Amino acid sequence: MCGIMGYVGGEEAAPIILDGLARLEYRGYDSAGIAVLDDEGRLRVAKGVGKLAALRASVANNLPAGHAGIGHTRWATHGRATEANAHPHADSTGDILVIHNGIVENYRELRDALAAGGHTFASETDTEVIPHLIEDGVKKGLDLAGAVREAVGQIEGAAAIVAMRRQEPGVLVAARVANAGGVVIGYGASEMLVASDLPAILPHTQRVVFLEDGEIARITT
Ligand code: GLU
Repeated sequence: MCGIMGYVGGEEAAPIILDGLARLEYRGYDSAGIAVLDDEGRLRVAKGVGKLAALRASVANNLPAGHAGIGHTRWATHGRATEANAHPHADSTGDILVIHNGIVENYRELRDALAAGGHTFASETDTEVIPHLIEDGVKKGLDLAGAVREAVGQIEGAAAIVAMRRQEPGVLVAARVANAGGVVIGYGASEMLVASDLPAILPHTQRVVFLEDGEIARITT
C-alpha cells in the first residue's frame, strides 16, 4: 500500500500532487502516476516506472495544467511494475480515473463479469476493476459519488481509493473500505486535499479529517 495524493482548488494541481507524493516516498514504491483535468475538460495522464523523480523529470517541461487531479505511488501486488499497471487506472471511456491502495480480493470474479459485459482491460492489476465498476454506475445515471458507493459495495478486500471524472470537474471522491491504510482529507482556504498520510497534507493545512472504514467523501472546494 503506497501513496495517494489528490488536489482540488485554485492552484495548479500537478506540482502540489507531485510534491505530496514525494512526501510519501518513505513508504517505498515501484512506479508512479498522475492525472490532471484541465479547464477545457481534457484529462492528462502521465505514468512512469521507478522513482518519482523520473516521472517529475518527464513532465517538467510540459506539466499537466489544471486545478484538480490525483497522483499515486504504487507498490505492486497484482501485476508487474510496468507503466500500464501504474495508477491512475481508467474505465472503458477514459473519463473515469482511479488511484487505489490495497487489494481487491475478488477482482477475478469482478473482472470476468465486467469483461462478459463488454468492458476491456488495459492492465494486469486488481485495481482496474474499480473504474469499470464505477463506469457501470455512471451508465445507470449515478453521479461519481453514487457510482463509487455502488462500486465499493462490490469490492472485497482492502481499498483506499480516490476517483475523478471528466464530466464532474472540481470533484474528487475518496473512499475507504476495510483497513487499507489511511485516507486523510485536508481543508485549505480555497482548496481541498486528500492523501494516504498526513505529511502530504500538512504543508497546506492543519485542518484534517480521517475517513473511517466504510466512509465515502465527495470533495469539492
Ligand atoms: N493492488 C494494487 C496494485 O497492485 C495497489 C497496490 C498499492 O497499494 O500500491 O496495483
